[in-house]
This record gives sequence, structure tokens and C-alpha cells, in this order.
Amino acid sequence: MVVPSGLQLITMGVKYQPRVSTEISFNSFALHEDVMEGALAMGFEKPTPIQEQAVPVALEGKDIIGIAQTGTGKTAAFLLPTMSRILQGDRKGIGALIIVPTRELAIQIDQAIEGLGYFAGISSMAIYGGGDASEFSQEKKALTSDTDIIVATPGRMMSHLNLGYADFSHLKCFILDEADRMLDMGFYQDIIRIVKTINSDRQTLLFSATMPDNIRQLAKQIQKDPVQINIALSKPAEGILQGAYVVFDHQKPDLIGHLLEGKDLKSVIVFSSTKRGVSEVYRMLRKKGLNCASISSDLEQKEREQVMLDFKNRKTAILVATDVVSRGIDIDDIELVINYDVPNDAEDYVHRIGRTARAAKTGVGLTLVGPDDQRKFVKIEQLIGSEIRKLQVPSDLGAVPEYNPPRRKPGNKGKFNHGRSKKPRYPKKR
Ligand code: ADP
Ligand code: MG
Repeated sequence: MVVPSGLQLITMGVKYQPRVSTEISFNSFALHEDVMEGALAMGFEKPTPIQEQAVPVALEGKDIIGIAQTGTGKTAAFLLPTMSRILQGDRKGIGALIIVPTRELAIQIDQAIEGLGYFAGISSMAIYGGGDASEFSQEKKALTSDTDIIVATPGRMMSHLNLGYADFSHLKCFILDEADRMLDMGFYQDIIRIVKTINSDRQTLLFSATMPDNIRQLAKQIQKDPVQINIALSKPAEGILQGAYVVFDHQKPDLIGHLLEGKDLKSVIVFSSTKRGVSEVYRMLRKKGLNCASISSDLEQKEREQVMLDFKNRKTAILVATDVVSRGIDIDDIELVINYDVPNDAEDYVHRIGRTARAAKTGVGLTLVGPDDQRKFVKIEQLIGSEIRKLQVPSDLGAVPEYNPPRRKPGNKGKFNHGRSKKPRYPKKR
């Protein structure tokens, strides 16, 4: 069997050291001992850079704007100090409210609270849309009792707030996770409305992968003298091996088939920017008899959860997805991420391939670059500051285009220079 060069990368077995501190351990923070124990039980021995900087500041009760890319450990950076502060208080009413963009992320953070808060006996509830009436009344119950931490999506939180029983007058901490994503989804006004119902002497922590102007504006509106911690470099984690195939669009289905067939891969995500792309890829993989499922915003809440669960439990080997799952979702041991097309936003590239090689692991991110994708792809290379290796396309797929994207010349602001040659793109001889 001829293994395409992209997949050979997987077997190279490069060891990835998680970026954690070598000097400091969690012990040196003034964390509550039950919370410390939770962290150790989760296998956290040393803090990641965002944790190292955010935890002591948050423990002092100060507001924080924390900017760090996906997979850097932001969840524990806000959960550990928040849990500690809750345990040190009187535990009257709801102790912390965390607002997140998606249901999936709400569930994931709720699970992290369960893990990290296990020894401390921290109670929590995830509140998100799509559930039935009994779920709604369970959520209502959590909101009207002394639940330590509520994790909620903005829309669902508003539904409860409109009914008038939620009491956020005792919050120690208000947290926004993936704030950039929430603003992209149009939740600015909902966030402001939620903040208006909260006691003004709370702490406010804002976490985001990027720091666009609207985040700055939001921070000004809801925070007091926030300490800014910026670890974001827009660079994929070091453990990710990246490669790209420069192809014609009509070659993409066959190439995907080549990459995935007969490889016994256990956990792969194929991303497409469009729902149409997702269903094309899904149908093609199905036809080849591969064990796959697809997920997009078209699916009902329950179906989405089931698809995610089956993928997480390795019942499904290949998940074909739009960007709904690209941010914030932590599924361990994804071997391979394939971009069926190039994301429109260069930051999204980092988020997508950030699904592989989460802290302490190695993964592979491959991108199929069609002729119309080349301009976007070179922007990504510029953002991450290095060229992504172009891999050999299997020869039976036929001639492929040249990689010759328009490039911005240094010192020639705003003007594009078409690659090294002036020639139009045409197939390379092979
Ligand atoms: P982010 O929110 O920044 O995308 P997460 O909080 O989801 O990142 O963390 C990414 C992964 O790293 C998770 O699997 C998490 O359990 C793990 N992790 C977080 N902090 C540490 C640590 N200090 N040591 C080892 N693993 C960690
Ligand atoms: Mg996160």
C-alpha cells in the first residue's frame, strides 16, 4: 500500500511537550486545597502560561482580559481561581455565572467543573437551548437554589431572565468565555442585558482567542480596570504537523478518499466552510463505506449531542463538520484534521487545526487548497509566520495546479504581486 505523504507525518511520532511552566507548580498559588486536588486528579501538574498569569490575579479578585489561542488551558485558568473564591465565601446564592457561545461548550465546561470541583463538592448546571420542558424546569430549579456555578448560552439565559426568578445578586465572579465568538454570533446586546441583572461588586473575567475592537469596547463597558494578559500569537500549537495539497476542486473528493481509505484512523475531523461541502464530503465517504457522520447547524440539538458523543466515544471514526465544532470543543486524541476548503478567516484555520494536538499530544492538520483558496491560504501562511509544507498529490489524480497565490509585497501596501512569475496558473507537468 502506498501511503500518501501527508499521512506518513502521523507515524513520525514527534513527541510534543505541552507548553507548561518548568518553574512554577500549582502549589505556589493560593488555591483552595480541594481545588488543587481536583487539578492534580485531572493530571495538571504545572500551569500553562495563561494559567500561570491569570490564576494569581484572579485570586486577588481583579478583573482580567485573557487572550490566548485555543488549546492553551483557558478553562482551568478561570475555573480554578473562581472555585477557590467560592469555597472561601459563604456560598449563599449562585457563586459564578459563565456565559459561553454554544451548547457544546457549555456542556464541556460543566464537565470540567465536575472534574476540577470533584473534591470541593462544587455544584454546577449547564443551561442551553433546545431541551424540553422538563430540562427547562430543572434549569429553573438550579437558578433558584444555591448552585455554585451556572454555565449558560446567552439566548437561553435571556429566556430565564425574562421570567424574573434568576437571582445574580450574590455573584463572586462573572465570566465570558470565547467572547470573540459570542460577539461574532451577535450576542453583544444579550450580554449587556445579562450584566445589568448582576451585582456590580462582582469580578468579571473575559476570555477570548482574539482581541478585535468590539471586545475592547465590551470590556470597557462591563469591567473595572482589567488586567490584560495576552498570550495569543495566532500560531498553531507546536505539536501540530501541518501540510497542504494544492489541487483542483474536482480532485478534492478523490484525494479525501485517498487520505482516509484503508488507514484505520480512529478519530478524524473533516471541516468544510459550507453545509453543502459537508454533505458532499459526507456522501462521498459514505459511498466508500467509511465510518463517518456529519454535523452542522441544521441538526437538532439532541442529534448534535448524539453525533458528538458517538465521535467522542470512537463509535464514529470520521466527523464531517462545519465550523460549529471548530472552536472550544475539546475532544482528546484527534489524529487528523482535514480542511476540505480553506477557512475564510485565517484565525479560523488556527482554531480548526487546534482540534488536533491538544495539550501534550501530536496531531496532523492537512488542508486541500483549490485554485480559489490560494489567496486565502497565503494569508494564513502570513498570519502564522511560516510556509505550510506542500505535499505531493498522488499521481493517479492527474495534473495539479501550481501554488502561485497573489502575495502582498513588503513595502507595497495594499498592492498584490502575483507570485514569482506573471504567468497565469496552469497545470504542472508530472
Ligand atoms: P482553551 O479553552 O484555551 O482552548 P482548554 O481549557 O480546553 O483550552 O484546555 C485544552 C486541553 O489542555 C484540555 O484537554 C485540558 O484538560 C488540558 N490542560 C489544561 N491545563 C492543563 C495543564 N496545566 N496541564 C496539562 N493539561 C492541561
Ligand atoms: Mg476554551
